[in-house]
Amino acid sequence: MQHFLLSAKGRNLSLKKIYKMGEQAAYDLFRTIRWNETNGEAVCPQCGCTESYDITTRRKFKCKGCHHQYSVTSGTIFHSRKLDFVDLLAGICLFVTGSKGMSSVQFSRTMDVQYKTAWVWCHKMRECLADETDNETLEGEVEIDGCYVGGVVRKANFKDARKDRRKMGNRSPNRRVVIALRERGGRTLPFVRRMEKDGVELFRGIVAEGSTVVADEATHWDTLEWEYKSKRINHSEAYSFGGGAHTNWVESYFARLRKMVTGQHHWVSPKYLYQYAEHAAWLEDHRKEGLLELSQRIVRAALVAPKSRKFKGYWQRSA
Ligand SMILES: [Zn+2]
Repeated sequence: MQHFLLSAKGRNLSLKKIYKMGEQAAYDLFRTIRWNETNGEAVCPQCGCTESYDITTRRKFKCKGCHHQYSVTSGTIFHSRKLDFVDLLAGICLFVTGSKGMSSVQFSRTMDVQYKTAWVWCHKMRECLADETDNETLEGEVEIDGCYVGGVVRKANFKDARKDRRKMGNRSPNRRVVIALRERGGRTLPFVRRMEKDGVELFRGIVAEGSTVVADEATHWDTLEWEYKSKRINHSEAYSFGGGAHTNWVESYFARLRKMVTGQHHWVSPKYLYQYAEHAAWLEDHRKEGLLELSQRIVRAALVAPKSRKFKGYWQRSA
């Protein structure tokens, strides 16, 4: 069978198509996605009024009710955008093309924008794709596991200078664990913590009663067996005992995350690790969707998401 990423269905949008479509069509597309209920007709973000003066030359609107001036991106993460709509759309398409994500360096070179612009742009997109699973709960068979990322202590050259990296005190303070809960056939929810056992509380908060916990032999998961049905797998004995006793779903998510971190980003700050973890989860959950559907998800989320608080003016603040 042909791999999905190679199929025509997976290739239903491309940079070529977007640039052929042109600026006006890209702008119209943003309008129909933002103002879906009114079929693309402008709605004032301040008072909800649909009557407005069209300032066509600047692609702005002035509300007849409250005189507020706004555009299709007002109040969204692309609020202070200086790019053309066709470039915005191309950037989104490029971003979803990388099945293991994309480094800001590569993004900046392909889109021909400054590295800082690329970095903030990608993080804004990661932020809004994560909104999809806000307040999400899981049920049925839910796999849980942890994957340590970052904080690698390099081996010293001389044997005498080498430290036992298994000891707590010799570990890097940057070491974090990504704890992932994955419903079989459902969503993947990742969290960044310092200890894998913190996943127990997360599981209780997210997974519905009557569900099944599927986990490996680590003893901290034992307590969940009191509250949920369970399937456990001892990885020192086998990777699957049959009957669904395996953590392959969550492992395939970690495989994608590890490849993303090592292959694309090379190094990630513990501060932003959750963003990459969310991005990999989103890619994993929507792996059977074409580039068009994935881009639409980002545009929709970007336009409904409030202004990116964390990343708006990020570089100015840190200067
Ligand atoms: Zn208004």
